[in-house]
Amino acid sequence: MQTKYICTHEHCSYPGSTRFEMSFKSESIMDDNNVATAFCPFCKKELMPAPALTMDCDPRTSPDCSPMD
Ligand SMILES: [Zn+2]
Repeated sequence: MQTKYICTHEHCSYPGSTRFEMSFKSESIMDDNNVATAFCPFCKKELMPAPALTMDCDPRTSPDCSPMD
């Protein structure tokens, strides 16, 4: 199982069409209280944990969730 982190910085310089993503093996993270902070290599902002499933992403409750189109 992997935990995905995404850059939520609005003006990130990541050249891709989506947000910068980075996945970590859950074994290397241990638990939510002992997670290593990851930073975006493009904008140097802290990466935020992404929803486990895109289906769980609800724009009404997740401000960082982009509506799928
Ligand atoms: Zn970024």
